[in-house]
Amino acid sequence: MFPDLERLIQLQQLDNAASDATRVVETIPSRIEALDVQLTAGAAAVDDANARLSDKKSERAAVEKRLGAVQTRLSRFREQLMAVKTNKEYTAMQHEIATADAAVQDHENTILEHMLELDDLTAAVTAANAALAASRADIEQTKAALQTERGELERTLAITAGERTTLTETIGAQAQALFERISRQRQGIAVVEARNGLCTLCNVRLRPQIFNQVLLNTELIQCDSCKRILYHDPSAKPAAATTVDAP
Ligand SMILES: [Zn+2]
Repeated sequence: MFPDLERLIQLQQLDNAASDATRVVETIPSRIEALDVQLTAGAAAVDDANARLSDKKSERAAVEKRLGAVQTRLSRFREQLMAVKTNKEYTAMQHEIATADAAVQDHENTILEHMLELDDLTAAVTAANAALAASRADIEQTKAALQTERGELERTLAITAGERTTLTETIGAQAQALFERISRQRQGIAVVEARNGLCTLCNVRLRPQIFNQVLLNTELIQCDSCKRILYHDPSAKPAAATTVDAP
């Protein structure tokens, strides 16, 4: 094989590996961000459960205060009942007492309901805290794994960059300039395999005489359509090795 072609194929392999690694590295911040969003949602659920519990406690405290006031009034009425002089006063006082008694009963029922609700809300706080703790442990572990993955990919990228520098020193200036120009213009892919008479990237059928030249791997031949440098892989499927008759 033409030495420059062979090195350009290797150069393309290094560039492909680097661009794959870079693509993955670039997804890591958004993956970490998504995990943080999950954590924030868990913390918000805990805050929400705590707020509902605390609202209900305030509500109960207000009812207890009202109950205390009614009970004070009730005992005052009972004392006053001893001091009434007329039947009319007695009946009126009895009526006040009955009303206050009903209010006491009412408030006590409400407090009972609140107690049941507080039990549920307390359980909800415990559950939200447990869910947050579990997901936090999980998320921290995933985040650590992502950081490790990023470190490994960055190491791979550094190694690949070093290999690229070493390799480019062995490539002819013209061949390298051609590679870099096509790579810039064609999304980082300058060298592709030709197989079964086709450019495997743009899928355009090559002129038979061009394809036959490509099969020899003895010079740099560009695809007529996408301008990428073509090569033939002798280890590819047998069909790829079939020559095409020149017209
Ligand atoms: Zn092409």
